[in-house]
Amino acid sequence: MLSIKNLHVSVGDKPILQGLNLEINPGEVHAIMGPNGAGKSTLSHVLSGKAGYTVTAGSVSYFGADLLALAPEIRARLGVFLAFQYPVEIPGVSNVYLLKAALNAMRKHQGLPEVDAMDFLTLVKTKLKLLEMDEKFLYRAVNEGFSGGEKKRNEILQAAILEPKLCILDETDSGLDIDALRIVAEGVNSLRSTERSFLMITHYQRLLDYIVPDVVHVLAAGRIVKSGGPELALELEEKGYSWLEGQAA
Ligand code: ADP
Ligand code: MG
Ligand code: MG
Repeated sequence: MLSIKNLHVSVGDKPILQGLNLEINPGEVHAIMGPNGAGKSTLSHVLSGKAGYTVTAGSVSYFGADLLALAPEIRARLGVFLAFQYPVEIPGVSNVYLLKAALNAMRKHQGLPEVDAMDFLTLVKTKLKLLEMDEKFLYRAVNEGFSGGEKKRNEILQAAILEPKLCILDETDSGLDIDALRIVAEGVNSLRSTERSFLMITHYQRLLDYIVPDVVHVLAAGRIVKSGGPELALELEEKGYSWLEGQAA
């Protein structure tokens, strides 16, 4: 599904990703951990097409297509979804409007007609229940005045509606209390399928108790320095990252 080869990315003249390799097959959940400033969010932004990053070497193939050549909205329509580390507030645009417009854009791309208004409300309400969100969130402006935890739930609500193929979650667990973490994790688990893959950036092993990954990677100094199974996350919790610094260099 996703094949990242020797990816080098700079912001201005500062190199951030420096030879990153990563392969994700359909249905797999990959967790990426790593110290602050390692380039985790940069990776999520480059995959989703955020402006301001320069790819200086390497390639990203998504279902065989050159992902980096595609406009961000095309990537989204092809099923690439990013749950932001810092979700954006959009005053004046209601949550329900955004969800419906985004879903219809994807449907149009797939040659499907616009979703029926009643069917859409039924769908949205089912997903709200899954995430234990009140219906009033539909009619509020996107993320405006939402608490940190509410913003993170809202990101997963978007994923649940849009049913992406590659779901990138950037620190979706940070700022969540224990109950919200469980709810968000259950939301993510309900989206797991043999066709959908996840790239899950997290600092905390705790999340991986709920969402058990197939592979855990450590991103340090701009590349993947170690990969393993879920037990690697436990090892990191115990030892930190410093023992990997030699491997990063
Ligand atoms: P992580 O998510 O792993 O904590 P980031 O990908 O956010 O790390 O950042 C990696 C490095 O790139 C950091 O040193 C950060 O300050 C730098 N960086 C990211 N975006 C920018 C930017 N727009 N301008 C300057 N430096 C940036
Ligand atoms: Mg960070
Ligand atoms: Mg980050």
